[in-house]
Amino acid sequence: MRRPFIAANWKMNKTISETQDFISEFVPQVKEVTDVDIVIAPPFTSLTAAAEVLKLLVDTHIILAAQDVFYEEKGAYTGEVSHIMLSEIGCKYVIIGHSERRQYFNETDEIVNKKVKAAKRGGLGAILCIGESLEEREADKTFDVLEREIDRGLYETDLENVVIAYEPIWAIGTGKTATPGQAQEAQAFIRERLRVKYDNKADEVRIIYGGSVTPDNIDSLMVCKDIDGALVGGASLKVESFIKIVKFNRI
Ligand code: PEP
Repeated sequence: MRRPFIAANWKMNKTISETQDFISEFVPQVKEVTDVDIVIAPPFTSLTAAAEVLKLLVDTHIILAAQDVFYEEKGAYTGEVSHIMLSEIGCKYVIIGHSERRQYFNETDEIVNKKVKAAKRGGLGAILCIGESLEEREADKTFDVLEREIDRGLYETDLENVVIAYEPIWAIGTGKTATPGQAQEAQAFIRERLRVKYDNKADEVRIIYGGSVTPDNIDSLMVCKDIDGALVGGASLKVESFIKIVKFNRI
């Protein structure tokens, strides 16, 4: 049994005070949700404040994540943040290779791979995002893209502390969710691809779905065999909707 993993990706949203307000309101309402890894990834500027509020709310099981990490540990890399800095704040995971970073910041599979290795070196879990564009799906290239992004993103690494987020680019922020059938098909393919290299370890890896997840579609996604959770953008920005998502219907 893989423990569900549901992560909020706030992207470039929420100031420090908005982060504090969200966490103070959210945490008491999910106290009883102890069978899911609940992860929150605020922007870098809010990480310290988030960690402090979480510390004050004793007994919380919320896991803190960052949205990116640089692959060097320190030095002349203006604007970048290292795994050492993130760990000191209390981050346990980092999102790597989100399609917005690949698209707007030219992150290649090679850069993504260096970041995955850096995160693992520093003891951070890596949430590795992969997924095809609409053009690639329509050209029947979905599996080719997924295979390439898995093989290159995880080049010369093991699966320890890795979560794979399948995020079809056409479903991110568009309100157009993949059907449970489409998501399951892609995620089963991902697991089979992992099996080629990592054998039975592939059964232990959490593969989560991202792309317009809402309280209305989470149940139908979570019943799928290879969907172990969700990476949630827009619907994680409101306390009520993120609560409903982490309290999805268990069967
Ligand atoms: C995301 O940011 O990874 C994402 C899936 O966003 P949204 O839920 O808004 O589509």
